[in-house]
Amino acid sequence: MAGIFKLTSGGLIVNYRCQARCGHCLYHCSPDREPDYLSPEGAREIFTRAKELGAPSMHVSGGEPFMDMDALCQVLAVAQAQGMPIDYVETSASWVEDEACARLAVERVRALGVRTLSVSISPYQNEFIPMDKVFFLTQACRDQAVTPALWIDEFFPDLTAFPTDRPHARAEYEGYFGKNYWAQLRPRYALNMVGRALCTHKGDMPTFPTTRIPHMCRSCQELGGRSHYHIDLYGGYIPPGCPGLALPLEALGKELDPEEFPIYTRLAQDPKSLLDFCKAQGFTPKSSYYNRCHLCQDMRLFLYHRHPGKYRELAPASFYEAIDTET
Ligand code: SF4
Ligand code: SF4
Repeated sequence: MAGIFKLTSGGLIVNYRCQARCGHCLYHCSPDREPDYLSPEGAREIFTRAKELGAPSMHVSGGEPFMDMDALCQVLAVAQAQGMPIDYVETSASWVEDEACARLAVERVRALGVRTLSVSISPYQNEFIPMDKVFFLTQACRDQAVTPALWIDEFFPDLTAFPTDRPHARAEYEGYFGKNYWAQLRPRYALNMVGRALCTHKGDMPTFPTTRIPHMCRSCQELGGRSHYHIDLYGGYIPPGCPGLALPLEALGKELDPEEFPIYTRLAQDPKSLLDFCKAQGFTPKSSYYNRCHLCQDMRLFLYHRHPGKYRELAPASFYEAIDTET
């Protein structure tokens, strides 16, 4: 049996556009992604359904939620009106221009009930975002009794080894910390090999022959999981760590029809059966993969191209288009 029957706390992806193009970004966010932002009506629908399924709270994520301050405030106002607590808003501080800009933004979200900002910091972000933007934002938070939760704070000493008024490229990190520094970010970040990590960390870990990829006969527990999921601006429920796979809101709360969702249901029960399904349609796997998620993304990309628009669960389409553009 496959389906999502109950939700705990999860995330709301309000947009996919971002000023940065981090090498680890699961969702292939970048300045080139579509400018769409979650509408107040869409937020109302998502919060209503999430509450019906038991979600006690949500966090706001992106893309970069602060790229459209007015739209973010509208979503937060809807959350307040509907009694959906917002655990935190995620941001990379990329939008911060100066102290005044940071102060005003914190003031506005605080007035709408936000008490924590999760501020993403890592060498991946620092390729695009100077640490001074992070400092302006965290100071503005502290001044207004909003908690700035740095994620992942263990990178802080590395990030502050360089001048903080500008971004720093991978080559600078490798020059300073050693040539393996970037490759070792992947395990430090506990990064799975999906999304943009497949481009950035190509060759940084061993691969398995396609016939011997671990756990191919074991169901993907992630697909039955109810925590650390996201629901995106298009109303797609995205299981934890599975970008490009999304169930429409109306499919939640009931058993999934294998005819309607042949990919999700196969992965939830027996990922190897998806390989057979794809092979029957002409898929030729590569000789090796990093893990089953790498193979999974490759199969889904194949199906996306083989039958454009056929599988509702291969969403958003812009995720697959971003892969095509970047690889
Ligand atoms: S800041 Fe976050 S959303 Fe933007 S590209 Fe980096 S990881 Fe992706
Ligand atoms: S194999 Fe696919 S469905 Fe399973 S956890 Fe990995 S990305 Fe998600």
